[in-house]
Parts: sequence; structure tokens; C-alpha cells
Amino acid sequence: MGKGRAVGGKLIAGNWKMNGMRADGVALALAIADWARQQGGPALTLLLCPPATLIGAIGAAIAGSPVVLGAQDCHPAAKGAHTGDIAASMLADLGCRYVIVGHSERRQNHHETDALVAAKGAAAHKAGLIAIVCVGETEAERDRGEALAVVSRQLEGSLPEGTTAENSVIAYEPVWAIGTGRVPAAADVGEMHGHMRRLVAKRLVDGADLRLLYGGSVKADNAAELLAIADVDGALVGGASLDARAFTGIAAAVR
Ligand code: PEP
Repeated sequence: MGKGRAVGGKLIAGNWKMNGMRADGVALALAIADWARQQGGPALTLLLCPPATLIGAIGAAIAGSPVVLGAQDCHPAAKGAHTGDIAASMLADLGCRYVIVGHSERRQNHHETDALVAAKGAAAHKAGLIAIVCVGETEAERDRGEALAVVSRQLEGSLPEGTTAENSVIAYEPVWAIGTGRVPAAADVGEMHGHMRRLVAKRLVDGADLRLLYGGSVKADNAAELLAIADVDGALVGGASLDARAFTGIAAAVR
């Protein structure tokens, strides 16, 4: 762990993906905000990244609570003729503080390259948002013993110029662990996070302080073990973030 974090304590981020209508999304956010209000103790940042359609409603639901708002993607351009896309500044305008870029589902389904992810990260920084840059190997890459090399290459290409511990977070998400219920051995998570820490410490002046999240089938019952691993500074949570008890159960594991 570094000396200090851009935002205090571990970061538990919920990625709702393409799930939620207004009523159930707001109810979920209100339940999480209620839980967060009742917590004391060590610093913990709870972040919700709903689908774009719900950002405004969820922002209103969590207003005045310790829960912060984020988005799942942004366009690299500041504005213009990009039908269906959303600029980082528009997300900031809605109250977002974070945006996920380079999630493996976007890398796979939308053919996003490291260069595009870096451009999105740069756009996020320009808009004053913290970019959560996702990286992670496929199962075939891990089986070939290439996991560390793949993540090195992704980090090299996906972190924009000007990345700091204040404006960025890295999420290590092995593709084969996302939504599968499978989690790497603690030793493998520790090896990867130690590797990423060395890489960012070499490249960035404040790399020792940059938050490194683990993501991939994090649940309330495995969160304590995962969050106790050295250089795991929080979690990016998909499926379990859609249930208030499951999500707050993960957050409770920080305590
Ligand atoms: C994710 O998609 O970022 C993720 C980690 O999903 P899950 O928690 O469902 O594996």
C-alpha cells in the first residue's frame, strides 16, 4: 500500500452493466445509501456505476449520502457528431466522479483497443473524472502463462499520458472470472497486483498511491480474503452489485 490514496480508503465499485429500470435502480441505490450513512470507522468509498439512462435518477437518490456516482463508459471526444455516444463532460455534468473505461465486455464486444481506452481515459481526466482503467487476461492467455505479459501490455497502452493516483484507478479483472463464479487463487491475485504495483511505481511519480482494484466474481463470502491481499485496494463488482445485501456485504468485509 502506498502512503495515501486519492480518495480515502478502499474503493468498492458497483458496475450495474445493462441492468435496471428507474424504480428498481432507485430502490437499490437508496438501500445502499442508507447502509452507507450508518457506517463509521475506516474510510471506504462506495461507488455506483448505473447504466447511462439511470445516472440522473441514481445521482438524485444518493445525493447527500457518502455514496458516489460513476458511469460505465465515455467517448474520447469532447463533443460532436457521435450518435448514441456520451462525452465525459456530460457525465461530470450529471454529477459523476468516476468512469469505467476498457471493461473487457467493451474490449470484446466493441473491439476497443488499448489506444482507444487510453483516449477515453484522457477524455475522462480532461472532464475532471477519475478513470477506472480495466485490464485482464483471458483464460487461454493465463493457461499459456501469459497473464503478466498481457496485463503489462494493456497497462502500457491503456493508461493515458498524465495518469496520476488522483485521476486514475486500475481494475484487474481476469476475463475468465467475470460473471462465472470463478476466482483466481489468492496467490495469483497477489502476484498480479504486486506486478501492477511495480509497473505503475516505475512509470508514475505517485504510482505507489494509485488504487488497484480486483474484479471478477467478488461476493460477500470471498470479499474479505480478496480485499486482504497486498495491493488490493478495493473491488469492481458486477453481479453482486445488483443486490443491496450482497453489495453492502462486500463493503462490510472491508471493516
Ligand atoms: C465486472 O463485470 O466488472 C465484474 C467484475 O462482474 P462480476 O462481479 O459479475 O464477475
